[in-house]
This record gives sequence, structure tokens and C-alpha cells, in this order.
Amino acid sequence: MKIILLGAPGAGKGTHAKLLVDKYGIPHISTGDIFRANLREGTPLGLQAKAFMDRGELVPDELTVDLVLDRLQAPDCEKGYILDGFPRNLSQAEALTKALNQRGDDIDVALHFVLEEDVILKRMSGRRVCTVCGASYNVNGMMPRVEGVCDRCGGPVVQRADDREETVLHRLEVYHEQTEPIVAYYRELGKEVVVDAGKPLEEVQAELNGILEAYL
Ligand code: AMP
Repeated sequence: MKIILLGAPGAGKGTHAKLLVDKYGIPHISTGDIFRANLREGTPLGLQAKAFMDRGELVPDELTVDLVLDRLQAPDCEKGYILDGFPRNLSQAEALTKALNQRGDDIDVALHFVLEEDVILKRMSGRRVCTVCGASYNVNGMMPRVEGVCDRCGGPVVQRADDREETVLHRLEVYHEQTEPIVAYYRELGKEVVVDAGKPLEEVQAELNGILEAYL
């Protein structure tokens, strides 16, 4: 089952992807997570990506596309994968289609998470993450049991630099300009399925499971 998650940053793609991983046993490939892990480890890729990420800009395609296409060749992707945060512009989407088609392959479905912008802003500026394991919390609910300390690994829980309000606003602009056009791209390919991401988590999961049954 090869899935792409589409939708604005903060629409809940990462949260739902993690739950789908447990259910379907396919890897969650988040380019944002890959860049953040590289940043934590101080790799050259992480250092190059940092300036773009801190400004809420997209990391250049030269640093992104091959990274993902290589990752999709790993043995754990044989049964499928959940791509989250990639593709992020038309050229990434076209590069993905081309690479998959060359292998006689294609994605099954592009789940499009739709959520009102004021809800997104509230969610993103309230988001807190563990700097060690990446677990996600929110000041509007779901906070760690001990303030500032991750429930899962005990690491520090902080606000990501790119979740500050002014950066969030810029990330949304970048989303509308560069990422939204790929929604139409996948719609024309007959792959888009719209998901109402404003519903409670359990309801969204139930809807996703209903949609994904067709691709098992
Ligand atoms: P995310 O966690 O998916 O919101 O990603 C955080 C940041 O990583 C983005 O604001 C970009 O700077 C960068 N990033 C993640 N995925 C991509 C991508 N496919 N192309 C370019 N930049 C990306």
C-alpha cells in the first residue's frame, strides 16, 4: 500500500501516519523528520537544510528528491510506505511519478487532509516536540505528564523554531504557492481522496481505515 499524505502543515498528517504505521506495518517516511534527525546529528545534510527550515522555506530539490527515492528502495518499503511531507512541489511530484513508473510502479492513493486555516494556526503554534525522540504534544491538550519532559523518553519538550507564529504564517504561504498545486496533480491522476481532518482523531482514523481497505 503506497500512500501519500497531502495537506497543509499542521493538518495532522504526521499524527495519523504514526497510527497507520502501527496498523499496517509499513514505514512512515517523513522528509521533515529525516531533516530534523540530520540536524540533531549535525550531518552536512542537516546543516544545509537548517537555514531553509528555520525560515519556513522548502529545502532545495537537489537535497530532497534523491534522498527520498533512495529511501523508497530500502527493503522495508517492499510492502508499501506512507510518504509524509513529500512531494512538496510539482517538480518533486513529477520526479516521484517518473521514478516509480520506471520501475513499473505507482502510488495507490493521495490522502488529502483538509482543515480550516485558523485551526491549523492554533494547532501549530501550540505544538511542542521532544528534541530527542520527536514525540509531539500540544498546549491545547495532550501535554506531557511532567511539563517540558517527554513521556516516552524523558527528553526535553520544546517549541520547534519553525512552529513560531510568524514562521507558521510563512510556511502556510509556501504551502499555498508551492505545495497546493500538487493536489490538482494527484486529482487529475485519479489518486486524491479528501479527508476531513477537523474531526476527532478516532473518527479520522476510522475514515482512513475505511478508505485504505480498498488498497489492502
Ligand atoms: P514538516 O515537518 O513536513 O512540516 O517539514 C519541516 C520543514 O522541512 C519544512 O518547512 C521544509 O523546510 C523542510 N521540508 C520537509 N519536507 C520537504 C520537502 N519535501 N521538500 C523541501 N523541504 C522540505
